Amino acid sequence: MGVIEGAVLLNSLADYITMEKDHRIFLTVIASETDHLPIGSLREQWHADYLPSKEAEITHYEQLISNDIRKVCVQLIANNVEKFHRCPICEFDRLVDPPRSEVTGAGSLEVCSRCGFQFGVTDDDQGISYEQWRDRWKRGETTSCNES
Ligand SMILES: [Zn+2]
Repeated sequence: MGVIEGAVLLNSLADYITMEKDHRIFLTVIASETDHLPIGSLREQWHADYLPSKEAEITHYEQLISNDIRKVCVQLIANNVEKFHRCPICEFDRLVDPPRSEVTGAGSLEVCSRCGFQFGVTDDDQGISYEQWRDRWKRGETTSCNES
C-alpha cells in the first residue's frame, strides 16, 4: 500500500480511532488533494497511457508528505494501542491491570493467563512468593486455575 492510499484509509477510519484534530485535518487535506489520482483499486479503471504521468505526480506528492505521515502514524499508534502490563513472574506482557496498584499497593486480583499467579491472592492470601511460583511454573506445577 502506498503512502497516499494509507493516508486516505486512515482518514476513513478517523471516526473510529483516537486521533488529534490537526492530524485528522492533515489526512482530510491529503484525501482531498489526491482524489484525482489513480490510487489503490482506482488504478484499474485508468487507461494505461495516462498512468505514467500520474505516477510522477504520486511519487512527488508522497515524498512531500512522507515525514509528516510517519509522525502521524507514530502518534496514532501511541494513542490507540492498549496499555498492557508485564507479569513479574513469567514475563507475560498482556496483563490488563498492573499486578499491584501504584497507589494502594493492593493486588489486582487478575490471574495471569500464562503462569496462573493471582496478584493479591497467591501472594497475600496463600503466602507464595513470586520466586516460589516461578519455580513451580517452570516445573509445570501451576495451572491457570491457581490451585495451590
Ligand atoms: Zn505470569
